[in-house]
Amino acid sequence: MSLEPKNQVRNEKNILQFILFFTLSLFVLLLVSGFLEIDNSSSNETVERPSLTENKEPQIFGLSGSAYTFDTHIIKQNQFLGEILSDYEISFKKVNQLVQSTKEIFSVRSFRANKPIVFARPDECSPPEFMFYEIDKLTYVKYHFEENGVNVEKVVKPFEVCENEAHGIIKSSLSDAMDASGLGMSLVSKMEDALASSVDFYHIQKNDEFKLVFEEIYIDGELAAYGDVLGAFYKNEQGEHYSLFFENDKYSGFYDFEGRPTKGAFLRAPVKFSRISSRFNRNRFHPIKKRRIPHLGTDYAAPTGTPIFSVSDGVVTAVSRTKNNGKYVKIRHDKTYETQYLHMNGFAKGIKKGVKVKQGQTIGFVGMTGLATGPHVCFRFWKNGKQCNHLRENFPPADPLPESDMPQFLNQAQIIKSALDNITRNHILSDSSSLGIDNNQL
Ligand SMILES: [Zn+2]
Repeated sequence: MSLEPKNQVRNEKNILQFILFFTLSLFVLLLVSGFLEIDNSSSNETVERPSLTENKEPQIFGLSGSAYTFDTHIIKQNQFLGEILSDYEISFKKVNQLVQSTKEIFSVRSFRANKPIVFARPDECSPPEFMFYEIDKLTYVKYHFEENGVNVEKVVKPFEVCENEAHGIIKSSLSDAMDASGLGMSLVSKMEDALASSVDFYHIQKNDEFKLVFEEIYIDGELAAYGDVLGAFYKNEQGEHYSLFFENDKYSGFYDFEGRPTKGAFLRAPVKFSRISSRFNRNRFHPIKKRRIPHLGTDYAAPTGTPIFSVSDGVVTAVSRTKNNGKYVKIRHDKTYETQYLHMNGFAKGIKKGVKVKQGQTIGFVGMTGLATGPHVCFRFWKNGKQCNHLRENFPPADPLPESDMPQFLNQAQIIKSALDNITRNHILSDSSSLGIDNNQL
């Protein structure tokens, strides 16, 4: 009686062994005959690069590479478009039509020196049928010279969005990011944005750890830009901080696990990639006036021209200039709080009294107008009409997402969190220098 089940087990074992053997044989067979392609891409390269096979004709700005002759002209300093186009036998009338018809879509006045203009001609002897100007890596403008005018179109190149992840341990400081070039810099900036209210990036410590899940935008198999940061994790002495990207038809932004926006009502600083050069101090010895004068603001030193942004939504109450403050902007955020930004080099376009501004919107640029020894922004925080140290303020947290959106949020948040948690210590970006983390500066 007890044999039967045993036999059954053995039979099942045999069947399993057979299936396993059969599957393996099939696998080997397929492998040998080249049917199976082993995906050996590493985990941070999950990119499906669109390859140009022999049969597929290469496309240049969406045109057949063999049907047109392409010429590239590099725009010289102070060169007029008319001058360039006359070399290509484009009439003055057409140039005029072009200037007029492009105004709304992309003004030719925005063309920059040292950037290329590409012409496409049906053959060597004909005038161009198309002209292209690349605005950035993702977008170009297509000008089609037609009989009765010029047709203008802004084109977003076909792109692929891929997910990537990064992990790092701070060896010196994130401000090294200032030296890092191009894309790496923008990724650091995106991480700062995601964690702006929970991590004080002015007090980064050695051995702080971060992890990122982010999107990369690929064009023709090449990294063209970083997309959204989907999740950010930062571990420092204060603990572990998560920031999770969430987007639906009503909301878009970074949230914590309770569905509260991680970007609080106020940003911690009005400039990026700066350093605090002088803190709020009621007893400060003034470097220019050579006597004790309280410093009722926080100075952030940054290169002239660095954008200064509003730390919160509000209404501009002053755009002015005084002998000591230089050019400054003052903003009222609510009944309680106002902020003021001094020593500006200039104001951003459209910033004037009565204008509404958003958190993070550029309102002016770093300079040293007024009483200043170097380019910086003196940031002043007003609470009920009195100046206070904003770094000591405990601001009320922003409202969480409504109950009705929480299930959708939690669902997405969980996926991002596990992606972050699965990034291991060994998963260091191949090029950590592009993130501004200098491994040599220990
Ligand atoms: Zn100051």
